Amino acid sequence: MLAGKTALVTGSTSGIGLGIAKALARQGAHIVLNGFGDHEGPRKEVEALGVKVGYHGADMSKPAEIEAMMAYAAQTFGRVDILVNNAGIQHVARVEDFPVERWDAIMAINLSSAFHTSRLALPAMRAANWGRIINVASVHGLVGSAEKSAYVAAKHGIVGLTKVTALETATTGVTCNAICPGWVLTPLVQKQVDAKAAALGLSNDEATRRLLGEKEPSMQFTTPEELGELAVFFCSPAGNNVRGVAWNMDGGWAAQ
Ligand code: NAD
Repeated sequence: MLAGKTALVTGSTSGIGLGIAKALARQGAHIVLNGFGDHEGPRKEVEALGVKVGYHGADMSKPAEIEAMMAYAAQTFGRVDILVNNAGIQHVARVEDFPVERWDAIMAINLSSAFHTSRLALPAMRAANWGRIINVASVHGLVGSAEKSAYVAAKHGIVGLTKVTALETATTGVTCNAICPGWVLTPLVQKQVDAKAAALGLSNDEATRRLLGEKEPSMQFTTPEELGELAVFFCSPAGNNVRGVAWNMDGGWAAQ
């Protein structure tokens, strides 16, 4: 379905981003990976799906590096047809204890990077009259949780950016939507399980059960594969007129 198209997924060396990259690759899209850590392993996993794979190690907190990444993608693949703004980090502390540097980093990586990639991708998408921008927000783009001020503010912000981008492209073949996962068992969440286990003297299993039980009625993690299939739907012809939604896949979290 996506043969001949190119998808750039930020933060795709791990977790949800890698899951979405693989789901889009299974539909035939060439992939530009981004993110820290090992990228040769993820590259091989995506290449095994039979598509071309590029990689750029831009730091999403640095606008100049984001510009270099977008230029690399355009030079290597011609155009970015599908942009998935996924890179994100977390920090947990009360407002009065929140390190200023962590606030600034979360705003830059979880919110401003999506503005920069979007502003740089939109001209070519408009010229082609086809494009998909998928912002990986969170259920924290819809509701709050204590000790996550920067994350919740950034995720509410990206839901707002999604709506505005969707309105500005509403009469074109470009759409913009957000995905709002509940808990997904990636390194980002395993750190929170580890912190709970250490603080309360719990086993990994018990800390995981409590983490889910506090927020997620289904008591199940959403998987990167499930989120990948939602991204594929947004890219499908059935998604042509889905614009500006913040679609939760959260086991009932926001329904409470
Ligand atoms: P993860 O830690 O597994 O992956 C994060 C990715 O972002 C990695 O590839 C990492 O290298 C990359 N990254 C981090 N900082 C970066 C930077 N400055 N520049 C470029 N890349 C950077 O996390 P994840 O759980 O897969 O999270 C992915 C997205 O999903 C995030 O935006 C997160 O907020 C969101 N999300 C996660 C959950 C969850 O439960 N895991 C729930 C809702 C939303």
